Amino acid sequence: MLTRSALIYLSRQEGLKEFAARFKLFKKLTTRFIAGETGDEAVHAIREINSRGCSASFDHLNESVGSAAETEAEVREYLDVLARIDETGINSNVSIKLTQFGLEIDPELAYRNARQIVADAARRGNFVRIDMEGSNVTQATIDIFKRLRAEFGLNDVGIVLQSYLRRTMSDAQELLKIPARIRLCKGAYDEPPEVAFPDKKDVDNNYVEVMQLLLASGVYHGIATHDPKMIEATIAFVEREKIAKSAFEFQMLYGIRRDLQEQLAREGYGMRVYVPYGKHWYPYFMRRLAERPANIWFVLKNFLKG
Ligand SMILES: Cc1cc2nc3c(=O)[nH]c(=O)nc-3n(C[C@H](O)[C@H](O)[C@H](O)COP(=O)(O)OP(=O)(O)OC[C@H]3O[C@@H](n4cnc5c(N)ncnc54)[C@H](O)[C@@H]3O)c2cc1C
Repeated sequence: MLTRSALIYLSRQEGLKEFAARFKLFKKLTTRFIAGETGDEAVHAIREINSRGCSASFDHLNESVGSAAETEAEVREYLDVLARIDETGINSNVSIKLTQFGLEIDPELAYRNARQIVADAARRGNFVRIDMEGSNVTQATIDIFKRLRAEFGLNDVGIVLQSYLRRTMSDAQELLKIPARIRLCKGAYDEPPEVAFPDKKDVDNNYVEVMQLLLASGVYHGIATHDPKMIEATIAFVEREKIAKSAFEFQMLYGIRRDLQEQLAREGYGMRVYVPYGKHWYPYFMRRLAERPANIWFVLKNFLKG
């Protein structure tokens, strides 16, 4: 039985991508979660998402970039994406990962690169979300976000918090003092019990508590989940507290629970779909498999069929 940890381990073995991509059905499944390898394909997917009443966020997949030159290519990609959003008139912002901009090479490099993107987005009236990665970079990510937020506005740059981390409630309280726009998610990495709740029940309880703190703050936040229980808890809370539907948005991943995306949009809630694209789709794709055993069995069954 492939466990979640084993799949997350495999997600870090990029070499396996070449092997796996030879299987037609593996490729077919990747298209369910990845919008394509090029910016054009992502724009095409976003037009379709917009036509269903949802907004989007571009995510150019490339984690843990290894050289300063590679980070420059990532900056160019995002500057190009921000220009395309304006040219095409699609409804989308952008999500970035700081390791993509060199966080593991030199935090100053990541800061300078991210600053270029946030400055360009601010000039265009767009918004940059800084994704949250593994707990080894949580503090460094928050530190860089705070420096950017000190220079740019509330509606220019935001961050992500993960409810599986024990530190998240206190991070949320601190960040709200700035204030900051936060995307709340459960968390997708393999973390030790010292830093993350091992029990799903605790992750979910923390999600609900942090969600309530965020939505009571009056700042526009993103409630990112496909979990019907989390969505019901959010709707019950905003109805009870008379918080307007326009005061926050739900967020989901490309290809997951499309039915629920459309239903919430029809009910008048903001719904943003996160659209991953690019050549380096392998680690992202494997984390999606790790979240749902049914997806793994689908892949294995088709591997065995040949
Ligand atoms: C917009 C967005 C941005 C995110 N950004 C980050 C980030 O910056 N950092 C980070 O660590 N994580 C991020 N995540 C991932 C997140 O942390 C979770 O790993 C992921 O959303 C699964 O958790 P869940 O809340 O959907 O609940 P779960 O309890 O995992 O799932 C609830 C239900 O959702 C459905 N579902 C969930 N995942 C899948 C799947 N892969 N395939 C099919 N059905 C599925 C199933 O019906 C499942 O029963 C993001 C998620 C979203 C939606």
